[in-house]
Amino acid sequence: MDETRIQRIPAPLLAWYEAHKRDLPWRENPTPYRVWVSEIMLQQTRVEAVKEYYLRFMRALPTVEDLASCEEEKLLKLWEGLGYYSRVRNMQKAARQLLIYHGGEFPSDKKTLQTLAGIGSYTAGAIASIAFGKRESAVDGNVLRVLSRVLEDGTPISDTAHRKEIEQTLSRAYPPEGDMCSAFTQSLFELGALVCKPQNPDCGNCPLAFLCKAKENGTQTLYPVLPQKKEKRVERVFVFLIETDEGFCIRRREAGVLRGMNEFPSQEIEDNESAESVLDQWGVYGYTEIKRKNFTHIFTHIRWDITCVWVRAESAPFDAYTLDEIEESISLPTAFKQCLGIL
Ligand code: SF4
Repeated sequence: MDETRIQRIPAPLLAWYEAHKRDLPWRENPTPYRVWVSEIMLQQTRVEAVKEYYLRFMRALPTVEDLASCEEEKLLKLWEGLGYYSRVRNMQKAARQLLIYHGGEFPSDKKTLQTLAGIGSYTAGAIASIAFGKRESAVDGNVLRVLSRVLEDGTPISDTAHRKEIEQTLSRAYPPEGDMCSAFTQSLFELGALVCKPQNPDCGNCPLAFLCKAKENGTQTLYPVLPQKKEKRVERVFVFLIETDEGFCIRRREAGVLRGMNEFPSQEIEDNESAESVLDQWGVYGYTEIKRKNFTHIFTHIRWDITCVWVRAESAPFDAYTLDEIEESISLPTAFKQCLGIL
């Protein structure tokens, strides 16, 4: 790896960051807790979409103690719409670990941070550098994209040994401990988000253009080398909006994706199974079908082709809630919430 080239990145990038950084809510008062919450939310979600969620979450749970003691339904409701609910469940586990093992304070050391639930090398590096000013890199997809272009490095970004080598080499290029380390981590994220974008990198306004090999050779579009995408498995699913006098039926999922989350009762469709046979099997009584509508939901490895069936029933063996209750206090993953569009 061309370490000399990497060593030349911080100075121009820090100057550019000072002039171009965006005002983002988590950049004010970057305590370890605030940095951590923002980094977990930003995984798989766009900055613009995260802002509102972040502010709401911080208002509701401003401290590690608040997060550790939060009732599960309230926690999931705060996360509703962000998806990947294991992230917030792990955050609560980590908050409890912090209270039990660290007196409620975040450790500043990257290795110790990685002993907390849901905190891997990237998040630990982000907390250590941004909140504690440590010389620790945080290498995510953005950073890998920038470096693969600067170095014209064709190693697939899914290669974990390569990622580790990048982390270590980049950490050695960090400025001395303190605020500059915090700024350097964020400057790399910012460059990847604003300038060295996946499509159409804005090389004319890039502070690293003078040392970027891809720019020099016009090969920007060849980097980064991405792993081959696997075909998603397709599952056909019935989702039932069963309306009784009390409201719409909701239950907890016991298996499969979104296990442990609330759902409108659903069933994967096998062969030519009919909606009626599923409802009869569940013991739904005196029902009339009102409408059907198809939806699709994409998970990381699976695509759900949903047939949503709205029925009115005299009784059903599930708890039921009004639409207001569902809106205010029941957390529903997007895969199910979108089915309300049938009404
Ligand atoms: S010069 Fe272009 S390709 Fe190179 S780092 Fe900057 S934006 Fe990315």
